[in-house]
Amino acid sequence: MEKREELYRGKAKSVYKTDDADRLILLFRNDTSAFDGKRIEQLDRKGMVNNKFNAFIMQKLEAAGVPTQFDKLLADNEVLVKKLDMIPVECVVRNYAAGSLVKRLGVEEGMKLNPYTFELFLKDDAKGDPFINDSHVVAFGWGTAEQLVRMKELSLKVNEVLSKLFDDAGLLLVDFKLEFGVFSDGSIVLGDEFSPDGCRLWDKETRKKMDKDRFRQGLGDVIEAYEEVAQRLGVPL
Ligand code: ADP
Ligand code: UDP
Repeated sequence: MEKREELYRGKAKSVYKTDDADRLILLFRNDTSAFDGKRIEQLDRKGMVNNKFNAFIMQKLEAAGVPTQFDKLLADNEVLVKKLDMIPVECVVRNYAAGSLVKRLGVEEGMKLNPYTFELFLKDDAKGDPFINDSHVVAFGWGTAEQLVRMKELSLKVNEVLSKLFDDAGLLLVDFKLEFGVFSDGSIVLGDEFSPDGCRLWDKETRKKMDKDRFRQGLGDVIEAYEEVAQRLGVPL
């Protein structure tokens, strides 16, 4: 597999072409951003931890029947993935109230949501990733109604599989964000990453925050918390 030119440099990852038209390399950097990229810092080891964490989770999901981009780990910071035509919509599933839901509705952080909620946000930093609904996705051509049905079905499957996985490790999966894309065969595939950067994880007993909220809220020991989560799950770092 030959690494070719950089296709895109995001806030946390760089994307490279390869000699295979159906494959890309994702390089996980140490850059850590918050507030739609308004704050960016370098955190030692973050690229490596998130790359390995993501590989572990994607393989668990694939085994549970969720089609993912994961192909193989290439290096500490690099993974080979399926090249997807990304749908610019973030799918957010919540099991407990936190973050923007608390701000928007004025509900108490930590309130159990029964059942879970499923929300859509437009992936557009310049507009502050606005809250949208499925009719916007179809009307503006970001995705089809059929693709949305599949994205929701897969998001809920991910919630079922990962809530159990984290629960067994003494953690609450509070909420998470997924991004999907269309593969060359037309199927909807889970892309981007699943790591503590894009989900909320709280210790089940103490409710200690073990995710990117440590960075957003200046709580310190960000990567130490990510590493503890990885260790509890048995992710080889
Ligand atoms: P952002 O764009 O939010 O700053 P990143 O730094 O994580 O995010 O950059 C990764 C970029 O690569 C994102 O735009 C994401 O949508 C895109 N991407 C992730 N996985 C794939 C994939 N399998 N195929 C094509 N693009 C992908
Ligand atoms: N999230 C993300 N990227 C975004 C927005 C949200 O990964 O651009 C994740 C976030 O880490 C959390 C979940 O999606 O796990 C829900 O985020 P929320 O809407 O509460 O927004 P926040 O207040 O975290 O920006």
